[in-house]
Amino acid sequence: MAEGDTILRAARRIDAALAGETVATTAPNPRGRAAGVERLDGRRLERVESHGKNLLLHCGDLVLHSHMGMNGSWHVYPRGGRWRKPRRAAWAVLAGDTQEAVQFGGPTLRLISAARLPRDPQLARLGPDILAPEPNLDAIVGALRADPSRGLGDALLDQTLVAGIGNIFKSEACFAARLDPWRPLADLSDDDLRAVLEAARAQMLEAVASGRHTYAVYRGRRPCPSCGGRIASRGQGDANRTTYWCPDCQL
Ligand SMILES: [Zn+2]
Repeated sequence: MAEGDTILRAARRIDAALAGETVATTAPNPRGRAAGVERLDGRRLERVESHGKNLLLHCGDLVLHSHMGMNGSWHVYPRGGRWRKPRRAAWAVLAGDTQEAVQFGGPTLRLISAARLPRDPQLARLGPDILAPEPNLDAIVGALRADPSRGLGDALLDQTLVAGIGNIFKSEACFAARLDPWRPLADLSDDDLRAVLEAARAQMLEAVASGRHTYAVYRGRRPCPSCGGRIASRGQGDANRTTYWCPDCQL
């Protein structure tokens, strides 16, 4: 699953390659044609932004909304260059003067009118973006407290409370803050919640800068880097997403 850091990197990469250019737009795969992607042909791509795990490409009064989910991706290539996936698999191709952005797969690719964007049901329910330039962490702490019985790790994945954190950074941020992801929110102080949010943000911004993910506990393949003990793992929340943690270091 692409998390907020991957989406922010994609947004910056596509923006750097194509923003301000008129894009020749095609949809080799029927899924892209069904989404109406070709309506963007000949339009100017003004800017590309991310919000949590969502990517928004602004083209005048139309916005292309992409959510990559578990298997979607955006690639940027020199125009006419070789791709790493077959052409027929591409849902959207936006070609500028010298480069092209290509989208493959994922649960969501659709056009929204720019006027309706602020009221779009799917986007309006998102919480503040953890990777926004200056996220209001106090507001996020307040939102996390909506259900005091909920476990910390489960709440961090809820995109309506805070957007952008996925399964990797859920586990890694709880480890960095030395907080047990199973503790109910009622049991945690505002300072605890702020610490785990700051850890997630710092780790994700580092991943944006480096393009790499380094794991302390995620996947649990190595012993705890702090105590050498075994990393525990168990499915958490309604979606049963696996949480990794050190039972000795995270209290
Ligand atoms: Zn440990």
